[in-house]
Amino acid sequence: MSSYKDSSDQWQHGIAKSITFIVTKDCQLACKYCYLVGKNSKERMSDEIARKAVDYILQNKQVSGNKSVVWDFIGGEPFLEIDLIDRTCDYIKKQMFRLNHPWFNSYRFNFSTNGINFGSEKVQRVNSTSKCKFKKYF
Ligand code: SF4
Repeated sequence: MSSYKDSSDQWQHGIAKSITFIVTKDCQLACKYCYLVGKNSKERMSDEIARKAVDYILQNKQVSGNKSVVWDFIGGEPFLEIDLIDRTCDYIKKQMFRLNHPWFNSYRFNFSTNGINFGSEKVQRVNSTSKCKFKKYF
């Protein structure tokens, strides 16, 4: 018998604000159903853009009105930019704390990955520092 996912199973009943960073247009795979048009290794998010986006979002009440937030990182393959992600997650936490933002006590980081780099030293180092906790769904 089929079942459906009840929204009460989801974190904050699925009503948290979701903010998505496309950190790269690069990926190691070539899935036929890929949603990304124009895959390439040159278009990557810079630290400056990531920080500007974080500042804009946290200082704009119209954007950050929800009680909770999911900071979402996608690509391409986001773990190709794990250093940027690491720095950006640190920056997000510092800014939420500095601004005494309500999201400081109610946030999650989410990563949509193909899993290829999940076991790499860099990704596991970020995982083990507890700065970003990764959960495997595959
Ligand atoms: S893993 Fe994702 S980003 Fe990479 S080719 Fe497949 S669908 Fe596209």
